[in-house]
Amino acid sequence: MATAGLAKSLTVPASMKAWVLGNPDELTLVDKPVPQPAAAEVLVRIDAIAVCATDLEIIHSGPPALIQGGDPFNKNFTPGHEYMGTVVKLGPGVDEFDIGDRVTVEIHAGCGRCERCREGMYTACTNYGMNYGDRNKGHRANGFTTDGGFAQFAVNNINTMVHVPDDMSDEEATLVVTAGTAMYGLDVMGGLIAGQTVVIMGPGPIGLMGVGVAKALGAQPVILTGTRDNRLDIGKQLGADHVINVRNEDPVEAVKRITRGKGAHYVLECSGAPNAVNEAAHMLNRGGRICLAAFPHEPALVDVAYLVRNNIYLFGIRGEGKSATHRAAAFMAQKRFDAKLIHTHTFPLAEVPTAIKYARERIDDAIKVVVKVHQ
Ligand SMILES: [Zn+2]
Ligand SMILES: [Zn+2]
Repeated sequence: MATAGLAKSLTVPASMKAWVLGNPDELTLVDKPVPQPAAAEVLVRIDAIAVCATDLEIIHSGPPALIQGGDPFNKNFTPGHEYMGTVVKLGPGVDEFDIGDRVTVEIHAGCGRCERCREGMYTACTNYGMNYGDRNKGHRANGFTTDGGFAQFAVNNINTMVHVPDDMSDEEATLVVTAGTAMYGLDVMGGLIAGQTVVIMGPGPIGLMGVGVAKALGAQPVILTGTRDNRLDIGKQLGADHVINVRNEDPVEAVKRITRGKGAHYVLECSGAPNAVNEAAHMLNRGGRICLAAFPHEPALVDVAYLVRNNIYLFGIRGEGKSATHRAAAFMAQKRFDAKLIHTHTFPLAEVPTAIKYARERIDDAIKVVVKVHQ
């Protein structure tokens, strides 16, 4: 939205409410100074934020958050990364966004100066967490290496922001980055997937968004595997041509049956099950590709010989690189799939611990729990 006689800022308070991480699993609501945007940054008033499984990991055990070179505990660190909001202040020289613009954000700005950032792989920045002390490389990843979104305001690099159309709700806009992660997984496998078989393993938020994105890209058929019928049903609504409950049917056999023995072209692995790589390999045709978007907590045994003999390619992604979030946002703006189907619960900012509990314990079949920060 262009504003005539553009104001350089709206009235922004000096302090804000923010949740900070103390000891593991200990969140406290405190007053913090509102951060100030530097060059290539804006200040975002956070309107809504979704709880992610990675937030649960960080709050409970620390990694992959990295604050001042170490774990994120007792450092006045604010977690949370899947947020959207309104631009309220522009840093020096910013003309890419205007005050009042609604935006949703991706997590990683990267350092912008390392080899990976220069390739667009800023989620794999080699200066991850290097944003402090006399070797400050300026790396930013909201809620991982810099303050995140369980707060009223946050600073964002302009490269991490996407405009939100007027007819997209705040809650839906928080899901763009999840869809962006699924998009990046399909992207790194490098195929034109129209007309090709894609299997999505695991109907968590990324898997379900993966169904929507794969379908929007023209994959045919899209097959979703999982253990929970209610989530598989949501997968159908998002466009899955076939869903397989692995409790009732062997998923490898099912994929073979659906593809008339040929096997799939691509598997996006979002389950983190210990045997997932082996199962994925057996679902594929020779030369097929697997992208890992989830992982088991213990090292897993993989039949490498099978991968080699069958020319199976194995990829892994960290987050949502190469501006995949922008492409996912474009699909959502065009209503190519209904991301709102995975949004199950909403809480106010004062109830972040309850929101986290709902997400962690999947209370009441919670999938995506959203905190509405600005009413
Ligand atoms: Zn996330
Ligand atoms: Zn970098």
